[in-house]
Amino acid sequence: MPRDYPENLQELERLFPDEASCRNYLLRLRWPAGFVCPECGEKAAWKTNRDLQTCKACGFQASLTAGTIFHGTRKPLALWFRAMWHITNQKYGANAIGLQRILGFGSYHTAWEWLHKLRRAMVRPDRDRLKCYVEVDETFLGAKHRGGKRGRGAPGKIMVAVAVEIEIVDNKPKMGRIRLQRIKDASSQQLLAFVQANVEEGSTIRTDGWEGYNVVASHGFTHDVSRASANVGDDLLPRCHLVVSLLKRWFNGTYQGAVMPGHVDYYLDEFTFRFNRRKSKSRGLLFYRLVQQALIAGPVYGKEIEGGIYSPSRKKATSKRMTIVRELASETTTKTIFSQEV
Ligand SMILES: [Zn+2]
Repeated sequence: MPRDYPENLQELERLFPDEASCRNYLLRLRWPAGFVCPECGEKAAWKTNRDLQTCKACGFQASLTAGTIFHGTRKPLALWFRAMWHITNQKYGANAIGLQRILGFGSYHTAWEWLHKLRRAMVRPDRDRLKCYVEVDETFLGAKHRGGKRGRGAPGKIMVAVAVEIEIVDNKPKMGRIRLQRIKDASSQQLLAFVQANVEEGSTIRTDGWEGYNVVASHGFTHDVSRASANVGDDLLPRCHLVVSLLKRWFNGTYQGAVMPGHVDYYLDEFTFRFNRRKSKSRGLLFYRLVQQALIAGPVYGKEIEGGIYSPSRKKATSKRMTIVRELASETTTKTIFSQEV
């Protein structure tokens, strides 16, 4: 793929000085093979105004920003581009105060809302599941007090399921991609749902032997229990534990642990987005992915953000229109390589 993204801030400023350049970029990313009518598949269109393409065959008017994260925005796209650049360039996560400062917003709330909207674009709806050999564990985020029953969860705490793919390089296990998800408790029902949603059938699931995981063996997975061969004090799931400690440090550092439970999923998505691209040499490529995914993540409304409702727009993006848009977008999406997402 020829490079189609800025490598540094100067390039960003040079490539996207105005609305027209931003629109052309979105147009290219949304319809990489050229415009295709979402209603009838026709390829010829008139450009009716700066946001609308009108299908020559059926007259359908396709808006460049409708159905995307930028839906209905009154602010310049160039500002959104700067926001996306800022977010993808923060190694330890962006916060609303930083974004407000960079964009010169008078309102903290607007920066906070933008950040939440962009977080929703951090996970591809059709991302691949982990495969082969996967460590799975759970952890608590939130309240500082210790304790809580594993099977039932704990009041004031958020339980998060963690899956880490292990790849073998030169006969040595290496950490691959991760998946994180908030779960109600560590019951077999919750854990199985997490594993099935995030790991390909036929893979081996390595756990510490908590009874909640036993169910995976009867659902197409090989269950490898590390407890049987370990002594007390051994680090049974080292990769999960590393991810958990990084997650906690990030969660408590960047956000001081002050996150509404309903928003946690999005912070987990942001952490996953960054973690799985930790070896990416180019911040510009992260920017490119975020723009690409912002175009398929669907519109997000203020109300959904306030209430912390998780992905209502994203999960129902199955209409014919969105499917076509997604297919087109995935055509140019570089295949996920094993160790990390690009
Ligand atoms: Zn048409």
